[in-house]
Amino acid sequence: MLKDIERALDSFRDQLNTAEDDFDMWRRSSGYKPKFLIQETLLLLWPKGIWFSQATPKFAFMAWLATRGRLSTMDRVSQWSQGIDTSCVLCKNTPESQNHLFFECSFSAQVWEHLVKGILQNSYTAEWTGIKILLVDRNLERYKLLCTRYAFQAAVYAIWRERNRRMHGEPPLPTQALMKLVDKGMRNKLSLIKLHGWKRFEGILQFWFATRV
Ligand SMILES: [Zn+2]
Repeated sequence: MLKDIERALDSFRDQLNTAEDDFDMWRRSSGYKPKFLIQETLLLLWPKGIWFSQATPKFAFMAWLATRGRLSTMDRVSQWSQGIDTSCVLCKNTPESQNHLFFECSFSAQVWEHLVKGILQNSYTAEWTGIKILLVDRNLERYKLLCTRYAFQAAVYAIWRERNRRMHGEPPLPTQALMKLVDKGMRNKLSLIKLHGWKRFEGILQFWFATRV
């Protein structure tokens, strides 16, 4: 059978203009193109980084809105509502935008770093586009990839919720308390993965503990 395939490929190759070198094509929304546009390629891949089998729907939905730039951050709200205070309620010293909240803000940066620095080590980044690339990076070891994907959703959800709580005048939750809350959620989630019998992820909870710095 392999010989037949080889022969078929050979005859096909003869029909091609062999003077031309091979070149890479990138999947884009308008089909395969030679030019690589990171934003377009990521948009096509992101669903896999967000809607994975073990995801918690409410977290995934929030992360999906964030990756599409659809959360009502103050920079967007100020476009239709003039004269409002656009400063970030978490750090209070920078105008709020999506990139600021995830994870340039000093408050959010601490939460993100606490969750994934030990997992990603040298590949660690707090930069939005860099994170989105990591979420679909198939070269990442499977425990790393799943923990990063899940931590991303948990962090986005917790930070957005805390931001909304403060916007509505509720007392701020200290960074340490929020980190503890997200960490507890992560541990619960990872134990459930084990209980559900996902054989490929059997040791993931131990992996999580081993990466706590
Ligand atoms: Zn901030």
